[in-house]
Amino acid sequence: MKQRKHAKKKEIRVTISFTTAFGVVLLLSNLLICCPDCFSTDVNRNGTRPREYGRVAAFICTNPDCIAKRGKKTGRQFTVLTSGEIVKLVQREIKEMIDALYRRGAKAKTIASAHGVSNALVSTLKTAVDSTIASGIHRDKLVPYKTADTAVSIDETFFKIDNETIYAIIVRGYRTSKVLGINVSKTRAEEDMRKAFDEAQANTSKQIGIITTDAHGATRAMAMHLGYPITVIVHPHKKPYNKAIIERIEHDGTDRIVTQVGVKTKVFTKRAKREYKYRQTRKSTIPSAKRPRGRKKGTKNKPKPMNTPSKTTKKRGRPSIFEVFNSGKKGYMKIRPQIKSIKFLGNPISPVIKGLSDAFSLFAGMHIQNNKAETENNIIRAVMPLGGQRSIEQLKVRLRAIGRLRNDPTLDPSIMLHHRYNARVYLKRFAGADFRNDFTNCNIALCAQA
Ligand SMILES: [Zn+2]
Repeated sequence: MKQRKHAKKKEIRVTISFTTAFGVVLLLSNLLICCPDCFSTDVNRNGTRPREYGRVAAFICTNPDCIAKRGKKTGRQFTVLTSGEIVKLVQREIKEMIDALYRRGAKAKTIASAHGVSNALVSTLKTAVDSTIASGIHRDKLVPYKTADTAVSIDETFFKIDNETIYAIIVRGYRTSKVLGINVSKTRAEEDMRKAFDEAQANTSKQIGIITTDAHGATRAMAMHLGYPITVIVHPHKKPYNKAIIERIEHDGTDRIVTQVGVKTKVFTKRAKREYKYRQTRKSTIPSAKRPRGRKKGTKNKPKPMNTPSKTTKKRGRPSIFEVFNSGKKGYMKIRPQIKSIKFLGNPISPVIKGLSDAFSLFAGMHIQNNKAETENNIIRAVMPLGGQRSIEQLKVRLRAIGRLRNDPTLDPSIMLHHRYNARVYLKRFAGADFRNDFTNCNIALCAQA
């Protein structure tokens, strides 16, 4: 039996033109007609199909190996506006929109007007990207491979869903700037922080030894209970904004030793001799017997002493995080950020050296701040539509999708989307204000075959 050779056919090309209000013609010329599934130019004319704006030329893929064929007798059928080159152009638009939304944090409205599409389309696109990533091949992991981060920033941002506050806790690596952990919950207690931290720890091959945070007590409590030595750099979001506290947490038997070092946030910015203050507390990790709750017996009806001078009464509760600046001991160091050198004067205790050295390793030449997570939060706030009727589940999915996309620049979700977007997505951008939805100013002409 003689094998019949598949004859190589001549390419089919078309020109799409738009007539503008001024009579000028915009051309997409000599567009090659190819199959939208296999991109083969092995195609035949296939009559015409009715569309709301008239009959349009149709084509059929004759590539025997076309992926769309899969045992079917007839090949993939399509028109000019659903052909391969147009699909690629639409794909490129979709990819640009996704990049702008998820990687650069552009607002949905801005994208819609820049690409000449409706807000609704941008909104469905976001949902499609979210679910593609959530259900996709990446198994919900934030990073494609483990990083080597040893320092992370922990921050929280909040959203309102049905008037309820939902917290998003975000952990980012200093070395890679990647989002390593995300937890979305209705509370921001220690265990909520711990969930995000544990995910981050699972996503790096090194043990996390430095955390930066903005003073929320739950993060510091979490660090205390990790059970291994760690440095926590706190830059409180309250007055005075120019102070930071470095906490070195270490253990001695069943005791936990916390060494706090208070510095100005600008302490590492330039070459100088700098002052710091430190204080150390030692506390047993074995829980002590609980104090009886409530007031002392027989004090209910006791009259309040008059004219109590409130200034002299001892402060209740835990000392402020800024206490180290009041009662701490002074120490000095020489900072040379250009050559990454920190020298301690005198003989400070080792937790002071370790804590300051850790902080210097992150912030040499810079102000101390919790900058990594905060930048991310600003992007997230821009990407998340506010005030929508979202569920906590949707919020989780969206946040993880943003994290995943921003972590991996090579990931292109536009190719994983199941939905085929209409040629209008590209043509609107191409023709701009001259695009008419009814195509009355559009002409599609087959080019004469050479
Ligand atoms: Zn094909």
